[in-house]
Amino acid sequence: MRKGILNINTLPIKWRITVWASLWMCIFFLLYNSVQYLVLDRWTLKQEELAIKKSMDEIIGYYEDNGSRDVTAGKSFLEKANQNDQLIRLLDLEGNPLLTISDGLPAQWVSPQPVETTLMVSVRHEREHLLILRSPLQIDSFNGTIEIVRNLENYEKLNQMLLLVMVLGGLGGIAFSSIGGVLLGRQFVKPIAKLSGTIANINYNGLSERVDFINNNDELSKLGQLFNEMMDRLETSFEQQNQFVEDASHELRTPIAIIEGHLKLLSRWGKDDPAILNESLNASLEELVRLKNLTQDLLASSHSEPIHMEKEQKTEPNRIIMKVVEDFAIIHPNFIFDVNYRSLSHAQLAVSAHHLKQILMIVIDNAIKYSTNEKTIMISGNTTTDHKVQLRIADKGVGISEEHIPFVFDRFYRIDKARSRKVGGSGLGLAIAKRLAEAYHGSIHLTSVENEGTVVTIVLPRWRN
Ligand code: ATP
Ligand code: MG
Repeated sequence: MRKGILNINTLPIKWRITVWASLWMCIFFLLYNSVQYLVLDRWTLKQEELAIKKSMDEIIGYYEDNGSRDVTAGKSFLEKANQNDQLIRLLDLEGNPLLTISDGLPAQWVSPQPVETTLMVSVRHEREHLLILRSPLQIDSFNGTIEIVRNLENYEKLNQMLLLVMVLGGLGGIAFSSIGGVLLGRQFVKPIAKLSGTIANINYNGLSERVDFINNNDELSKLGQLFNEMMDRLETSFEQQNQFVEDASHELRTPIAIIEGHLKLLSRWGKDDPAILNESLNASLEELVRLKNLTQDLLASSHSEPIHMEKEQKTEPNRIIMKVVEDFAIIHPNFIFDVNYRSLSHAQLAVSAHHLKQILMIVIDNAIKYSTNEKTIMISGNTTTDHKVQLRIADKGVGISEEHIPFVFDRFYRIDKARSRKVGGSGLGLAIAKRLAEAYHGSIHLTSVENEGTVVTIVLPRWRN
């Protein structure tokens, strides 16, 4: 039995439901039908016994009323009182039959037997089931016995019919419940199979797979919905992790290169000149502070927080432009930076200094990277009427053909020309600059003519008192 149950438990859920449903139905039908059969059997037998007793009472009543003049004279009454498949016999004291009335029941099936007290017995004659009631009859000087023998053929037939109906009904019920079990199992297992199919697909196709479920608010559709929501979160956080690693490596590259430039300068000859020593150390320290801020920014963006705007911070664009240009001049001494920010002399930006520096570095890094023989970078700024500041960085480099311009702000978009490949890069710079500018409700856009140069315009909000 234990082994059987263990075997059932190793079946697929669909078949387990079917087997259990059929098994319980089987047990239920068996119990129910047995009880019903026994009750009906007892009840019909009781009815037969009552009928035979009633006949006996009528016959004895008749004889008591008519006395013992001639006990065999009651023949016509007994014929009337008799029923189908029933025998009535009047016996004397020795058991000799005085009168036998039978309707379809041969007298030799039951041998006469006188009694002193009323006695009911049930006997079998070959395949027939007979019920016999014997009762003593004493009227005046007559002493004898009345025997009534009843063939329970109808009762037997009824019982057999009942049994057949119950067995057929039971088998039908089991078949129905098995089909029901199969359908129920299939219905129940379908969403689970879908879920496991999706999980298997995720292994091959990646995190973008989702379960296709019907939203009918049941537990299984809830499971599908929860699974999809979980996958959404997982995918987002996975993408954020990726973005974090990419952004981190991109953004850390320039400050590290700047510090490296300053240190090389110092190690070559700067350490002997107190002015250069001081300036380079200060510049490196500042770059380290920026690195620290960058790391914090990157960490914040990895936790799906938007870029933390430091609106409370006033920044003088001139000072930052100057610093960035000085830093780049250290690592690219062959470049000429033509800076014109006089019109910004009183302007202040509502942007944090390190974010402004980050944007400028990305754009100037590109201007340098994509320059050809003309190594001049022009940087200028002016204020606008709508309380903003425009910074323009122009180079005379390779430029960008028209069809590529709309895409250069997309992550990882690189114009795959031999030159782009040679200078290296990941296609992240402009995407990061755009995200930063937009976090301050600013913007960044670019115009370019191939082989002539590119102009990048950065628009940022001014500080309001
Ligand atoms: P990195 O992630 O190192 O910055 P990248 O410079 O290739 O790599 P972006 O700064 O986003 O990435 O620039 C995207 C693409 O736009 C570049 O690959 C380049 O082809 C083009 N581009 C950007 N700035 C200029 C420019 N000033 N002149 C010419 N092409 C440019
Ligand atoms: Mg770049």
